[in-house]
Amino acid sequence: MRDGVDLLKLLDPLVAAYIEVLAQLKRGGAAWVRIDEPALVQERNAEELAALRRVYRRLGEHTTRPKIALSTYFGHLGPAMGVVRDLPVEAVGLDFCRGRENLQLLKSCGGLGDKTLFAGLVDGRNIWSNDLHASLDLLDELTPLTTEVVVSTSCSLLHVPMGRAADETVDEEVRPWLAFAEDKIDELTVLSRGITGGRGAVANELETNRAARAARRASSRVTDEVIRQRVASFAKFDPRRVEGAGDRAATQRAELALPILPITTIGSFPQTPELRRARAAWRAGHLDDPDYDAILRAEIDHVLAVQEEIGLDVLVHGEPERDDMVRYFAERLTGFVVPDGGWVQSYGSRCVRPAILFGDVARRSPMTLDWTRYAQSRTSKPVKGMLTGPITMLRWSFVRDDQPDRDTADQLALALRDEFIDLQAAGSTIIQIDEPALREGLPLRKDERQEYLKWATRAFRLVTSAATSATQVHTHMCYAELDDIIIVLDELDVDVLSFEAARSDMASVDVLQSASYQGGVGPGVYDVHSPRVPEVAAFEGLLRRALESLGPDRLWINPDCGLKTRRYEQVLPALAHLVAAARSLRAELDNGATVPDAGIEAASTETPPGS
Ligand code: GLN
Ligand code: ZN
Repeated sequence: MRDGVDLLKLLDPLVAAYIEVLAQLKRGGAAWVRIDEPALVQERNAEELAALRRVYRRLGEHTTRPKIALSTYFGHLGPAMGVVRDLPVEAVGLDFCRGRENLQLLKSCGGLGDKTLFAGLVDGRNIWSNDLHASLDLLDELTPLTTEVVVSTSCSLLHVPMGRAADETVDEEVRPWLAFAEDKIDELTVLSRGITGGRGAVANELETNRAARAARRASSRVTDEVIRQRVASFAKFDPRRVEGAGDRAATQRAELALPILPITTIGSFPQTPELRRARAAWRAGHLDDPDYDAILRAEIDHVLAVQEEIGLDVLVHGEPERDDMVRYFAERLTGFVVPDGGWVQSYGSRCVRPAILFGDVARRSPMTLDWTRYAQSRTSKPVKGMLTGPITMLRWSFVRDDQPDRDTADQLALALRDEFIDLQAAGSTIIQIDEPALREGLPLRKDERQEYLKWATRAFRLVTSAATSATQVHTHMCYAELDDIIIVLDELDVDVLSFEAARSDMASVDVLQSASYQGGVGPGVYDVHSPRVPEVAAFEGLLRRALESLGPDRLWINPDCGLKTRRYEQVLPALAHLVAAARSLRAELDNGATVPDAGIEAASTETPPGS
């Protein structure tokens, strides 16, 4: 039972529909149908596994159907392997890139018997060229465990760029180490020929592959001893802030002197067509550095003026210099290449060009310092320093596969720590570290989550533990599924947390009530993914809801993400409405409207009974 619902009853109509679809496919001439069941790489309970057996028995029994390949990916099957092996389907797809354990699991259950194995050997989630020797060795091990092996990518190729790496403008040293979608198809044919015709049949391909991998291993841009020694010197360091959150909050309140319900934004302002044009001209060499800088400075002036006029309390410089935040930092760190193309889908119609993290990471020189310092010099209000966190840099790039992610995260963290220290020394009193990917990086299997969260939060604190008590550390996390990471809010130990909440009608705010985290909270009330401009009353409603839940002392007011994809025509009125809503709530609070804290204060002034 799940939530009191009978799983089998839920599945019945689905099974009937599937039987119909399978029959149609058969009539249409399909010999095979692939059914994706990636949910099987997560822990499944006995009831779910029983339902799986029953559903596939019914589908399998049906005679008017193509052969079924049940496909799994993004992990190993764990205890579900035995169940899957016995299902009445003709093939099983297993991921041997993210689920190496599948080999041992297959061996333990005595192989797939008369089923075909779709062996996911070529990584569909990353862009490194395949280790063809290792894959052929693995195929040798897999062959006796099944009647037939089909060589396959580990999952769909949706996650990697189309085309070939050779056609891409990435630097020449790195290019031979990469495989984009079409290269991966070639790798599959080489593996297939290598297994049927023997290794001699693909000797040339194997040699080229071996040489490229050896060059990658030996490259001085991949391994940098100075960086490695620095990371090692932090191995025993416990990155914690000196003062506890409560004491820090008092110091910061005194230093910053912000009004209650402080209003801010998440960082970026609209990227105007003029800005994009200027950047393109600068990249093409038609605009020189001083001219491009002057345009960016003018943009910062404009963004600051807008914020002052609307009445925001904590300002941002607007990030005009960043088209894509991860690429911006990647271009300024060692160990990355940032291709011109290499587009992949992010969500819906949005696409991104992930940077490629291939080697040891360090900062070359300050990355954001000049812009932040310039912005702060132009206003008396605090301007937030704005960094992309180590885990987001890691997750939103294509990351090297030759060392554990935790080691890569530490390198990224130390590079960002350097930037953090510079910002703080230059007078930044508030620094925001964006970590929208921290939650998203959570492993699919629950038993791997604690380990991940341990190193991910440590990497984050490697950056922020450089903060003095007076420096207010903010983090921004985009998505509202806070339930999963609520346990690590204490570990992150930030002073203010902001996240997307507008679309979930503030429901996520309630989750924070049960958390021990007591810092500032900025639940996003303006949905930046919508062109709509909310009315003052709509903002007021959401803010009241947040106030009820959190009280006035820790509530921050902000949009739910950066404004870069919106236009000024939308952003200006929306922010003005936001400020109007905040002001009317502030006025109510000033006039002593009932709020949770007012009650406590009143109680403490009463004479204790009996005195
Ligand atoms: N500071 C970034 C911005 O405002 C945050 C973006 C994000 O969370 N994805 O654009
Ligand atoms: Zn966001």
